[in-house]
Amino acid sequence: MGLKKGDEYLKSIKSLRLKAHVLGEKPGDLPEHGLVEPSQKAVAFTYDAAQDKETRDLFCVESSLGKDVVNRFTHLHQSADDLVNKVKMQRYCGVQTGCCFQRCVGLDAANAIFSTTYECDQKHGTNYHERFKDYWGWIQQEDLVVDGAMTDPKGDRSKRPVEQPDPDLFLRIKERRPGGIIISGAKLHQTGMLNSHEILVMPTLTMRPGEEPWAVCCAVPTSAEGIHYIYGRQASDTRKLETYKLDVGNPVYGGQEVMTVFEDVFVPAERVFLDGEVDFSGVLVERFASYHRQSYGGCKAGVGDVLIGATALIAQMNGVDKASHITDKLVEMIHLNETIYSCGIACSATGEQTAAGNFQVNMLLANVCKLNVTRFPYELARLATDVAGGLLGTMPSAADLEDPLAGKYIRKYLAANPEYATVDRMKVLRLIENLVAGAGAVGYLIESMHGAGPPTAQRIMIRRQAKIDEKIDRVKAFLGIK
Ligand code: SF4
Ligand code: FE
Repeated sequence: MGLKKGDEYLKSIKSLRLKAHVLGEKPGDLPEHGLVEPSQKAVAFTYDAAQDKETRDLFCVESSLGKDVVNRFTHLHQSADDLVNKVKMQRYCGVQTGCCFQRCVGLDAANAIFSTTYECDQKHGTNYHERFKDYWGWIQQEDLVVDGAMTDPKGDRSKRPVEQPDPDLFLRIKERRPGGIIISGAKLHQTGMLNSHEILVMPTLTMRPGEEPWAVCCAVPTSAEGIHYIYGRQASDTRKLETYKLDVGNPVYGGQEVMTVFEDVFVPAERVFLDGEVDFSGVLVERFASYHRQSYGGCKAGVGDVLIGATALIAQMNGVDKASHITDKLVEMIHLNETIYSCGIACSATGEQTAAGNFQVNMLLANVCKLNVTRFPYELARLATDVAGGLLGTMPSAADLEDPLAGKYIRKYLAANPEYATVDRMKVLRLIENLVAGAGAVGYLIESMHGAGPPTAQRIMIRRQAKIDEKIDRVKAFLGIK
């Protein structure tokens, strides 16, 4: 096989014939569904960009597992430059799609599993690393999309997995069968799950002795028997099903979140990469989370660029772009957005090689990056809302724009800067609305808060990585304090 084109990817997903519950129905042809199609196009973009002569140098890279050129979305990072290029690629995808393009999670999972399995094998004499290399070589060859599935439902947060009244609230190994394991449980908030060929299941937290059944990492095809998908709702999502598309805001692309249930799913042994080694569950979680926190330094900055561009444009359309308070607000937005990106670049440039050979991000800086992401996009959204004006929340529908009488009045009374048509002003306002309060706000705001873990998780990691004792010792030595 080799690098796929966007339309080949779309065909390959269609051929899986995945079924999901969407808005109370189980549509026959999922890829054609109005809610699903924009999210598939966003993933297809990651394939087309690898073919585009303008961008293929950034998107294509020589695999470390063979001599082939692969899409960077399946690459095992071989240098700090690779990590930097990953973030650059994600920013580019964010700018071009204006949404979550979903393909990063499997990439982050693969890099974390690659180094963790190596170290686990060294300590426990297991052979997970070779298995994983075989598996990932195939993913690269076939140029597949892999969902990284970490977040368990977690039930009563005061209880450990073993104490939950329902043991499935953390995904677990339920049984052993000849040649493999049976897993049972669910993964929530699965970004792009129905646009993926494969799933990498990982534990959700550091497991302790006695919690071996929950310390599981394995690969499952999305089409495996026993998996059920329930589509996540997003604000204003049904606008995608309406006749007039202007109200959607993002004209082509969108994100996707899916609740995924594993009801007694068989996983053959060659696809199992952690099976009860509780001491490596936390390592895997921390590494994956750090890679994904790095990712946000790229994708959220890219979507931030779209919001800044739309805000600057609506200021022109409203005729206020020369006002000093408007330029101040735009500069503030740029400052915040570039700070996000700077952290993404910094944690990449200072990344280090793991014992397995691939490169891991600087965990302290990756967590600082993501902690900024839990705040700055909200401030960007506030400033965009301020500049755009109240029409953002009161504008008539695209359907009324088509009505002879209402449309005439909408065009007359929503006209502003004569250089722009009223309908174009409406398009820009809907795009901003999409990002600050519509379906796009799931990817841009809610995911900025909770994706790759909530702010408290980053604070814990920052505290752990910051070496405060060393800083105290340095001050003591400096001041001659014993
Ligand atoms: Fe990639 Fe960002 Fe979406 Fe995560 S939120 S999958 S990093 S685009
Ligand atoms: Fe995410």
